[in-house]
This record gives sequence, structure tokens and C-alpha cells, in this order.
Amino acid sequence: MRIPTGILATALALTLAVGCSGSSKKEHSAEVFAMDTLIFLSAWGEYGHQAVQQGESYLYYIEDKFSTTRTSSELSQLNAGAGQWQSVSDDMAQVIVHALALSKETGGAFDPTIHSILTTWGFTTDSFQVPDPTEIHELMPYVGAEKIKYNEKTQEVLIPKGFSLDFGGIAKGYAGDELANAMEEAGVKTGLLTLGGNVVAIGRKTDGAMWNIGIQNPSGGGALASVAIEDKAVVTSGGYQRYFAREGELYGHIIDPTTGYPAQSGLTSVTIITDSALEGDVLSTALFVMGVEKGADYWREHQDFEAVFITDEGDIFITQGIHPWFTLASGYTEGTLRVITP
Ligand code: AMP
Ligand code: MG
Repeated sequence: MRIPTGILATALALTLAVGCSGSSKKEHSAEVFAMDTLIFLSAWGEYGHQAVQQGESYLYYIEDKFSTTRTSSELSQLNAGAGQWQSVSDDMAQVIVHALALSKETGGAFDPTIHSILTTWGFTTDSFQVPDPTEIHELMPYVGAEKIKYNEKTQEVLIPKGFSLDFGGIAKGYAGDELANAMEEAGVKTGLLTLGGNVVAIGRKTDGAMWNIGIQNPSGGGALASVAIEDKAVVTSGGYQRYFAREGELYGHIIDPTTGYPAQSGLTSVTIITDSALEGDVLSTALFVMGVEKGADYWREHQDFEAVFITDEGDIFITQGIHPWFTLASGYTEGTLRVITP
């Protein structure tokens, strides 16, 4: 599902023409704060330096499209123009098409129209509050991705009045795929991109070994396991990544679109291992909302990705395909490990 954007691919292809020097073992890296997230880009070898630099500018460019806090962003402008057909950029078009299709596919567990609900909880501004139930009740009619109309021919979207979109659960995955594609096209054979909970690996490590990607223990204390991968994305969603506490209750940033309240599905995190970071980003959020039973059924029906679920009790459920590549941290005794079979 990796589809390179024209602009980034062209910019990075130029680095090939200009030519760069450096050994294939040399790491080039950058730390960027964009999309409300700390992002690390690493690329090894002669094309690495420019690829990382271009990647950095690309992230600001993407942030300018998908931010919901910046009123000047393309998405904010689209939300402000709800009620009329509006043309969208190529990047926006890609994200809208995938978001609407995956919202349908996940039965609405992933729903980008959750924006007004997120705002009322303060997740978009960090002014957290537990809203009055009547407030949520009044906003719920404006949740439902099936109400968003998109015309592929004219590349126009119609957001009905009262609705607004949030791509916080998909944009980093989209950006990760685009970056990885563009870097590969520019000649990068080894790279690792970490956009918050979205990790995208290009190729294998320079010594030929697979990457070992750690999965955080949601209750703290580092990684509870790792998965060995090459050329894949490993994407984690968890309530613990962004939450606030009120009167002893924790409220996480992943909302159950059927209730308008933070999802309480018995899970603390879901990790998706897949070829497409965009798909991983959406599915980690969606399967977190579904919980382990429905999530396992979703995997059984699709089987084009693997998943690791961590429950509130610390138990770990992994899908069969990732089992050979999964290593539990020695000393993890908080829960048991179970394998989900087809
Ligand atoms: P992630 O960190 O990828 O799990 O995405 C979580 C972010 O996606 C949140 O911070 C919100 O911006 C947005 N979000 C929350 N709940 C949902 C949902 N059910 N469907 C789609 N996006 C959501
Ligand atoms: Mg996500």
C-alpha cells in the first residue's frame, strides 16, 4: 500500500543525481518534533544524509496538511468549510480514501469523524475535561464516517455540516510509508523511522541482521517483548500514550466511536506488524477499540497483518504468524503469553 508522493519522491531522487559520499555503514539521523510527536529518522549509507534532511522537511510539510490544531492547515480549512464540496490535495485524497475504506472495513471502530468528541474531551488542545454526558449525547449524531462523501473523479470531499475530521490515527502511518518509499527510491537500503508509536524499517540492518523492535510495557519499565522484522512497519496504539487522570480514573485518547468515551476494551496496547504503516496505524487504533476477541476475529478474516495485544492484566496475545519472530523479555512475569490461531 506504499504509494510515493510526487513531491517527496522527486526531491529525494535529486539527491541521487547530486551524488553523496559516505560508507554504507554510516548512520545519518535526525530528531524532529512534528505532528505533536517526537520523530527519529535514521538512514545508513551514501544517500542517507540527504534522505534524512529531505525527510525532515517532508514531516513539516505533512504536519501543515493534517494538523487539527493549526487553523491554517489543509485539514482545519476543510473542517471549517464543512457543508460544501471542497477540493483536496493529493496527500489529503490518499488519506481520505484509505481512512473511509478502513473505517468501513473495521465496522466503524476506526472513525475519523471522532474529531468533535476528541475536542470536547480536550484531547486536541490538552485542556482535558470529562464532558457532561449530555454534551457527548449531542455530539454523537456527528460521528459516522459513512456520512463523508468523496468524489474520486473531481478529488473533492463533502464534510456534512456539524462533522469534522481527525487523522491523528492515520497520518503518521501515511507519512511513514511515504518517507520509507521515497528514501528507498533515493537509494537508501537501510533505514529506521520512528514516528511516535509507528516504526518503519527499510531493509535489514547494515550487518544483515533483522531489526528487533521493542514493544513497550504499557505499565512502564521499558520493553516487554520484541519482534524481529525486515522491511515492515510495527505500529503500537495504547491508551497509555496519551491520557489524563480525574478522580482516580484514567481517560485515554482512543475513543470508542459507539459511545463517545475512551475505549475500555480490556487492552492497554495493540501492536500491528504489517507491510503498510498506514494500515498498521489504522488497525492498531481500531483493534484497540475492538478488544482482543473481536480483534482476533478481524485478524482471522484478513490475515494480511500480525498483531500483539496486551491486556489490562498484562497478558499477551499474539497472532500465530508473528510467533516465530516474537521474543518475550526475560523476567516478564506480569502475565501469560497466548497464541491466536486461525
Ligand atoms: P493512534 O495513536 O494511532 O492510536 O491514534 C490515536 C489518535 O487517533 C487519537 O489521538 C485521535 O487523534 C484519533 N482517534 C482516537 N480514537 C479514534 C478512533 N476510534 N478512530 C479514529 N481515530 C481515532
Ligand atoms: Mg493509529
